[in-house]
Amino acid sequence: MVGFGFDVHRLAEGESLVLAGVTIPSPIGTVAHSDGDVLLHALVDALLGALALGDIGEHFPDTDPRWKGAASSLFVEHAVEMIRAAKCRIINVDCTLVLESPKILPYKVQMRENIAKLCGLPLERVAMKATTSERIGYVGRKEGVHAWVICEVQPE
Ligand code: MG
Repeated sequence: MVGFGFDVHRLAEGESLVLAGVTIPSPIGTVAHSDGDVLLHALVDALLGALALGDIGEHFPDTDPRWKGAASSLFVEHAVEMIRAAKCRIINVDCTLVLESPKILPYKVQMRENIAKLCGLPLERVAMKATTSERIGYVGRKEGVHAWVICEVQPE
């Protein structure tokens, strides 16, 4: 089965920028109830989507004080547990980040390593691509960041 996830967060000055569990030095960061890790949020929806298990908002509502400032790795761990409980395993994860700045190339390996560890995958089964929005639209104006993730899940 294939799962697809998408997420977007607003960017603002003075907020932290956490992408796939890596805190990236940046004058602007994501505005969010949790740590605002747009990549891990898209990953959670991809994992849940593969088995039609709902979406991140159903499992971790942003009105719940338990998730205020929460590390989004908790959400991924929960989704991975649900996949295992359904007697399935993750085959691969493919991520695309759309962010105008900063450049994330220096952090890509660490980001892949974090996702690989959370999903129980070897590094070569986790892809991380990044692009800008060519200064077009709200991503291009540095008002927001997008992430898209697909994954494959198979029965054990
Ligand atoms: Mg989100």
